[in-house]
Amino acid sequence: LTELLQNSFKVLQGKNKLSESNVKEAIRKVRRALLEADVALEVIKVFLDKVQIKALGLKVGQGLTPSQTFIKLVETELTKIIGGKVESLDLKTQPPAIIMVAGLQGAGKTTSVAKIAFYLKQRENKKVLVVSADVYRPAAIEQLEVLSKQIEVDFFPSTINDKPSDIVANAKRYAQKQFFDVLLVDTAGRLHIDEQMMNEIKILQKKVDPIETLFVIDSMTGQDAVHTAKVFSNALPLTGVILTKTDGDARGGAALSVRHIIGKPIKFLGVGEKIDALELFHPERVVSRLLGMGDVLSLVEEISRKVNHKKVQKSFQKMTKGQFDLSDMRYQLLQTEKMGGIEAMMNKLPGLGKIPQNVKNQIVNGAEIKKMVAIINSMTPKERSYISLIKGSRKARIANGSGTNIQAVNKLIKQFEKMQKQMKKVSGGKMQKMMAKMVD
Ligand code: GDP
Ligand code: MG
Repeated sequence: LTELLQNSFKVLQGKNKLSESNVKEAIRKVRRALLEADVALEVIKVFLDKVQIKALGLKVGQGLTPSQTFIKLVETELTKIIGGKVESLDLKTQPPAIIMVAGLQGAGKTTSVAKIAFYLKQRENKKVLVVSADVYRPAAIEQLEVLSKQIEVDFFPSTINDKPSDIVANAKRYAQKQFFDVLLVDTAGRLHIDEQMMNEIKILQKKVDPIETLFVIDSMTGQDAVHTAKVFSNALPLTGVILTKTDGDARGGAALSVRHIIGKPIKFLGVGEKIDALELFHPERVVSRLLGMGDVLSLVEEISRKVNHKKVQKSFQKMTKGQFDLSDMRYQLLQTEKMGGIEAMMNKLPGLGKIPQNVKNQIVNGAEIKKMVAIINSMTPKERSYISLIKGSRKARIANGSGTNIQAVNKLIKQFEKMQKQMKKVSGGKMQKMMAKMVD
């Protein structure tokens, strides 16, 4: 068998294309990771369909394993969506460069306006004027005024009785006269999208004609992000996105969703409530964060990293010879626990995948695995090799020793016997394939 195994190693190493089953499993992993990251379902689907098509038949890169090749593909495609480089504000126009924000109420528009004003003043030495066109709530205008005082940036006054377009026109005239470099325009948002709001902001945007129209969205919007982003993106010629409150959600899923829908760069991240809690968006960081989610670096890689090959080979050898015993089961349970659940492992292994669902269900969670291992630990080596020895008083001793009860010991024995039966059914050829997958 060792020889067979070595051959299967070679077959896989010599492989220069990704196979369909390889790809399927890997795609499943990526899907789970993206879901964990709270990427919108619609975006996940479009993305994975694309990856799947590209992955099938993809040539394995030089010096790479098939799984590394796959990960590289996912990384490339993610980068294509999220963007490859840091994009800052475009201020190249006749001053004042007008920057306008739009988004739902509470998204963080006013805060972001102040943060950007501070950023431009501090980092780029710009002369900045801020103005509020949020005429629905007096508190909103005051909020911006307070913030502007705090950062010592000029504030152009407005009241709730003014028309938003007049406010901005006046502010613009003032900015021109006073040689301001940048005029930042805060706008009103509603709690939910409604037609009136969208119409107003559309009209305002046209009149103001800003060089930057930034869509502000709360990163914790989750699945709703897609809908909101679509509506704003259809209504306005957006030039970029500010993703706020990323300090409360480090998963990065919203970035992918919003970027995909809007197709415009994320320019800033809001990373806290403080005025300096604003960062340029680094796409590659989000990509690697997404890839890090839920162990996307593929089961195959994980297995080769975590599993001791020699031991696995030995235990597989015993299996095919019908010598699978409780020590092997214990070892496999521990490996399974390491790899994050029996499901993932069993689905990876043909043959084992056919273990009845009820058996899988019984041993699927970590606590259960720990209990099973404890029971096996309490057995003597002889008992582990010859399960038929375990009767009456031995059962009681094992139950006591493992802090469980007779029923639990019985259950484990049953599970072992089922597993053993299943192992015997696995043919030699299948075993070879299994090993190939394990060591890819
Ligand atoms: P607006 O209605 O869109 O103008 O939203 P605001 O600017 O008034 O912000 C709403 C709330 O979100 C405020 O309490 C802000 O302090 C908070 N906020 C905005 N951006 C961030 C951020 O990046 N991180 C955190 N933690 N809070 C934020
Ligand atoms: Mg506001």
